[in-house]
Amino acid sequence: LGMATGPVQSLLGLYVAIQRMSVSLDRVMELRRATPEVSLPEQPVTLPEHVQGDIVFEQVTFGYQADRPILSQANARFSAGRSTALIGPSGVGKSTVIDLLLRYYDPSQGRILLDGVELRHIPLDQLRQHIAVVSQEVTLFRGSLADNIRYAAPSATQEQLLHAIEMAQLTDWVATLPQGIETPIGERGSQLSGGQKQRVAIARALLQQPSILILDEATSAVDEATEREVITNVNRLFSGTTRIVISHRASTLVDVDERLLLHEQQLLDDLPRHTDTTGVQGAS
Ligand code: ATP
Repeated sequence: LGMATGPVQSLLGLYVAIQRMSVSLDRVMELRRATPEVSLPEQPVTLPEHVQGDIVFEQVTFGYQADRPILSQANARFSAGRSTALIGPSGVGKSTVIDLLLRYYDPSQGRILLDGVELRHIPLDQLRQHIAVVSQEVTLFRGSLADNIRYAAPSATQEQLLHAIEMAQLTDWVATLPQGIETPIGERGSQLSGGQKQRVAIARALLQQPSILILDEATSAVDEATEREVITNVNRLFSGTTRIVISHRASTLVDVDERLLLHEQQLLDDLPRHTDTTGVQGAS
């Protein structure tokens, strides 16, 4: 029996290791949406180290159902390093535009380019590494707060992590947590408020250093003043990054450089903001 202990123990150890591995793989998988229906590039183009973040929609047509197009030969530009508001009433397709950018779907016609390279030719992981999404629906997994913030940049140092936490204005909250940044944040972050989740997303994006930042306020539960504060912070922290802001509130959009209105399947340059709030009205 004594002789069997060694091998049995090693086997047990291996079993435990495999279990752990599959648990962490599960976690990674649950962070990804369902496998996209997009095809992987046959001849992938590697993006340069410094991506400007210039996005062009060229004659883009897309719809979930053939008879209900969301975009019909739409043209638009999200200029590198600038902030652009994407506006339009609820259900018009703003999130779909973002999903096309993240390549959860491909246009049925036309193309989308990042720095002149068609998205279809960019390896998916590279593309998504360059895009960060800040919203209150940030995907969190069981694990510590630190693990969750490091998710998009696992090699970030402790110093970088703490800096990101400070910049995202999480320091005071972290100080109240029983184990600080090592505190487990629970199943899908159920113990966090919407605003805290949003700040965690900002801290995560700061470590990721994306070329494109999407600020999605579509389901915003925070009050107007808080929302403005978040947008102001994001504009300050990500000033050289291409920013796309989805918001329903006209008042939060005064700081953006450009406005694109999704209307009748087109992405239109919006009228000057002092005379027009179309697209924000009627939104949920
Ligand atoms: P909101 O401002 O309410 O978030 P939105 O402008 O972002 O809305 P989308 O979420 O892009 O709009 O949805 C556009 C339309 O496409 C809606 O009619 C929606 O019901 C539909 N839709 C969204 N996702 C899917 C999907 N996966 N399959 C089929 N239809 C979808």
